[in-house]
Amino acid sequence: MIYVKSSEEIDLIGKSGRIVAKLFRNIEDKIKEGVATEELDIWIGRLIRKEGAYSAFKGYRGFPRYSCISVNEEVVHGIASSRKLKRGDIVSIDIGVKLDGYIADAARTFAVGSICKEKEKLLRVTYKALQLGIKQARAGNKIGDISFAIQSWVEKHGCSVVKVLFGHGVGYFLHEDPVVPNFGKPYTGEILREGMVLAIEPMVNSGIEDVRVMSNKWTVVTLDGKPSAHFEHTVAICKDKPLILTE
Ligand code: MG
Repeated sequence: MIYVKSSEEIDLIGKSGRIVAKLFRNIEDKIKEGVATEELDIWIGRLIRKEGAYSAFKGYRGFPRYSCISVNEEVVHGIASSRKLKRGDIVSIDIGVKLDGYIADAARTFAVGSICKEKEKLLRVTYKALQLGIKQARAGNKIGDISFAIQSWVEKHGCSVVKVLFGHGVGYFLHEDPVVPNFGKPYTGEILREGMVLAIEPMVNSGIEDVRVMSNKWTVVTLDGKPSAHFEHTVAICKDKPLILTE
């Protein structure tokens, strides 16, 4: 079932969203060659607690970390470790924050120093795909309008969308209905109504769309080993333009 949130509830999700946004603003300086992904995760965990909030990920179905940190061919659900970032890597960080019972969720892929042309393009295409998806998130449109905007842009630029992972409703729970696929046809699917809150999150591969799950049972990687990027915002559906709660 799809939950419709009141404007007071959307404000509360926005409070969590502002913490997520602050984390992303401040983590940029920390992403450099030689830093271990677990250092980033520990820093994220500490900052969330300092804000009086909780990680929505830690303990979710047994997930062991505060955030998901996925490097290069890792699509999502990377588990922070002693692995050190290298120049030329791309690193996707996904953060979910719960404050006073309300959750916001966002992700962003960062470059570690200068990166190759292929990765540069991938980041540009994925970032723009999110913007185009968000643009469709208006009352009266349908989920398929978001999906189509993302897929058509991504494929036009020679990249592929991951089809086994989806965006989702968010707010009371980390994953709520409806699912928000990154592929689909316009004017199809659930109609968007004022008060719905969606995590829109294109996961885009530089090569083929196929992925597999690593032996740690969490981390999703590309089958061809080529890089993948992930941008996500939590967005409230309003009468006119979408309200981004995580920036
Ligand atoms: Mg999400």
